[in-house]
Amino acid sequence: MKTTPSKKRKDFLVFGSPLIEEAAIQEVVATLRSGWIGTGPKVKKFEDLVRDYKGSKHAIAVSSCTAALHLSLAALDLKPGDEVITTPMTFCATLNAIIHAGAKPVLVDCERGTQNIDPAKIASRITSRTRAILPVHFAGRPCDMDALGELARKHKLAMVEDCAHAIETEYRGRKAGTFGEFGTLSFYVTKNITTAEGGMVLTDNAELADKIKILALHGMSKDAWKRFSDDGYKHYEVLYAGFKYNMTDMQAALGLHQMPNIDVYWRRRQEIWKRYDEAFAGLPCFTPAAPEAGTRHGYHLYTLLIDSDKRGKTRDQVLSELNALNIGTGVHYLALHLQPFYRKLLGHKAGDFPNAEFIGERTLSLPLSAKLTDEDVSDVIDAVTSILR
Ligand SMILES: *Cc1c(COP(=O)(O)O)cnc(C)c1O
Repeated sequence: MKTTPSKKRKDFLVFGSPLIEEAAIQEVVATLRSGWIGTGPKVKKFEDLVRDYKGSKHAIAVSSCTAALHLSLAALDLKPGDEVITTPMTFCATLNAIIHAGAKPVLVDCERGTQNIDPAKIASRITSRTRAILPVHFAGRPCDMDALGELARKHKLAMVEDCAHAIETEYRGRKAGTFGEFGTLSFYVTKNITTAEGGMVLTDNAELADKIKILALHGMSKDAWKRFSDDGYKHYEVLYAGFKYNMTDMQAALGLHQMPNIDVYWRRRQEIWKRYDEAFAGLPCFTPAAPEAGTRHGYHLYTLLIDSDKRGKTRDQVLSELNALNIGTGVHYLALHLQPFYRKLLGHKAGDFPNAEFIGERTLSLPLSAKLTDEDVSDVIDAVTSILR
C-alpha cells in the first residue's frame, strides 16, 4: 500500500518556544534603561502576582526551580542519611536538589496511566529516616493529593511539591503547590510561564519564608534584600552559608507580562491538546490519560507513548522522523534510576521501576506552546499521522 509522504515544514518548529509579546519586550527594555536591572521592585511585583494567583501566603522569586527545590529542602534542615521520597519519572533536577540538600532520594515507581508517583507503593518505602515526600505533578496533572497528604500526616513527613509543570494545576479546588510546606515553580523557557530562567518558592509559613529569603541570598539577614533600595544603607549579618539564587528585575519584567495572560495561554494549550487527542485517537500509540474529574490539568506536556510492538517503529525512530519533517520534540523523561549517576549512588538496575521504564522507553513530547498557530498544529498532526499510520 502506498502512502503519500508527509510534506516537510519550511522552517523548524522549535519545541517549547515561548510566546513573548511586545509588552514584555518593552518592559525588559525599560528595565535596562531604568538603571536598576538586579533584584528590585519588578521582582517584588512579580512575586505578588504569582502569590495572589496561587493563593499562598508567601512567594519568593529565585533563579530557577532547581534553586527553589534546593532551598526548600535546605530549609527543612535535612541531615545526612535522611530520606526524601520521590518519583523516577521527573527531571534530574528533582533528585539533584535532594542530594545537594544532603539527603538520599528514595524512589517509588509512578503509575503507568497518570505517570505520577503511585501513592499505594509509598508506605513500604517509608523508614525511620524518611523526612519528606516530593511529588511531581507530571505534565501538569495533579498527583493524588488526598492519598499523599494522608501519608504525610500519618508519618509526620514534610511535603515539597515540584510544580515545574503545574502552575495552573488544581486538585479538588486547591492549587498545586499549597498542600505541603513548600511548592516550587519553574519559569524556564519551555515552561507554561517563563522569565527565560527563574523559579519561585511558595509557602504559607512566615518563618520558613524568611529562611528561604535568607538562604537564597548568601545567608544574609533578611534586610539584605532591601539593602540596595533608597531607604538608606543597612548592615547585614550572615546567618548561614547561603546561596546566590535571587531573581533579577530583567527576568521579572518578562514575568509581569506573562502572568496576566496565564489563562489565555492555558486555554490555547487546552485547545491544542484536544486537537491532538482527536487526531491521534486511532493511531497505534497511547495518548495522555484524560484529565481527572474535580481537577485542573496544567497541560504542560502532550506526550505520546510509542508502542513499537504495534507499529514496528521505536520511539527514537519516530523522534528522528519527526525531526526530519522539521517538527521539534522532547523526551520527558528517560527513567532516572537508570541514569549512570543514580544507578551507582542508589544501586538501581533495570526492572526496579517497571512503569517508569515503560514510559521512559516510549515517551515523546509534542510542541504544546501557546505560540503555536493552527497551521503549526496541523503540521504536527500531519507529520505524526504520516509516520505512525
Ligand atoms: C524544569 C523542571 C525542573 C527544573 O526547573 P528549572 O527552572 O529549569 O531549574 C524541575 N523539575 C521538573 C519536573 C522540571 O520539569
